[in-house]
Amino acid sequence: MKYELETIPVWEAYEADAACPLCFLAERLEKQYVKFYLGDSVMTPEIRVKVNRRGFCPHHWRALLGAGNKLGLALMAGTYIETVRETLASEQKKLTGRKGPTAKVFESSQATMIARTDDCLICERLQYTLSNYAYTVARLFTDDATFRQRFQESRGFCLTHLPFALRVGRKTLSGAEFSRYADTVFGIIDHDLAAVHEDLAQFTGQFDYRATGPVTEAMKAATPRAVAKLAGTNPTGH
Ligand SMILES: [Zn+2]
Ligand SMILES: [Zn+2]
Repeated sequence: MKYELETIPVWEAYEADAACPLCFLAERLEKQYVKFYLGDSVMTPEIRVKVNRRGFCPHHWRALLGAGNKLGLALMAGTYIETVRETLASEQKKLTGRKGPTAKVFESSQATMIARTDDCLICERLQYTLSNYAYTVARLFTDDATFRQRFQESRGFCLTHLPFALRVGRKTLSGAEFSRYADTVFGIIDHDLAAVHEDLAQFTGQFDYRATGPVTEAMKAATPRAVAKLAGTNPTGH
């Protein structure tokens, strides 16, 4: 894949001071894509064919339902179900011969059914655009001193986006550039984890019988902050 620079959204994420800029961007993209698939564009034959063939993952079917355009979703789900019925009829045939399926046939049927529920047009687009964003972060860090400064003041990435950000960086930066980028990323994340750890300790310390002070809002926020760091804030995991 050839990456493209997407400077404006990346700067916006860093200006927003998000716990993980890639989670922030993924959430925004997800909303955009859900709206797209419920909008007029989905009536064009080209998109219609794609939706019928591939559909969405469980998380994004639910997101489409939650977006409040029941008619758009009904049209899309209706035609998708026609394709699903055809697939299931052929799986039924494979699995229900007189002697039952061989292990090989059974496993291939499992793979077909799992691939159907895993496949997702929204996940695919998210992954693609997010790779461009991760590329832009690495590129701006290397080429733009103002961005580098802002990046160093950020909280790095959540732990689910850390390997992803490093992989994209490794693919697009020179060895020395990557090394500098990775060193900064690990430094920032460790600093942030140390701060979260300290907040957690203060919070749990308040449950000690010797504790005297009140439980502050900052202390209460420590646990959600820790989970945001460990797991990200975007439920798709992108
Ligand atoms: Zn993240
Ligand atoms: Zn999905």
